[in-house]
Amino acid sequence: MKCQLLLLLGVFFKLSHSDSEPQTTLVEGYLLCKSCGEDSTVLNLIDNTRLSNHNLGFANITFGEKEVVVQDLTNPRGITFRILISKKAKCAQTSTWYKDSTWFEGYAWKICQCPSCRAHIGWMFEPFESAAKNPIYPSDKGFYAIILDSVISEAYVNSLLIVDKILRN
Ligand SMILES: [Zn+2]
Repeated sequence: MKCQLLLLLGVFFKLSHSDSEPQTTLVEGYLLCKSCGEDSTVLNLIDNTRLSNHNLGFANITFGEKEVVVQDLTNPRGITFRILISKKAKCAQTSTWYKDSTWFEGYAWKICQCPSCRAHIGWMFEPFESAAKNPIYPSDKGFYAIILDSVISEAYVNSLLIVDKILRN
């Protein structure tokens, strides 16, 4: 499972550094699907700069040493989600792009479900003008909104396992 995300990362960083020498990038940590443990994204890909004009507020949280901006967004049904933005994430293939009720002006959206267990992880966003050309996943101009409650950091999971092992011994 990590191989797929590393491949995704490899493509991302290759695109980011296409004019320079190959570089080694240390993965800062995985965020896992809370339902099944599948890799959802990595902390390196978090984008703290993209804020919705519709957010009810935002806050800084930390995953290990990484500071992450989360924002609260409400859907038309009145449900509020605390989300973080990632440049890439793992999502199952889902339906077509929607342009109505978008949280990010000029961006179409679709649901992001965990490819392993189909849990609702968040949403994918793609500019209106390029959504038709990228029917399945966002292009480099798009991004992903991940529901904070749907993921858990791998470092935290590992710390629980270590504590559990210590308590058993
Ligand atoms: Zn899952």
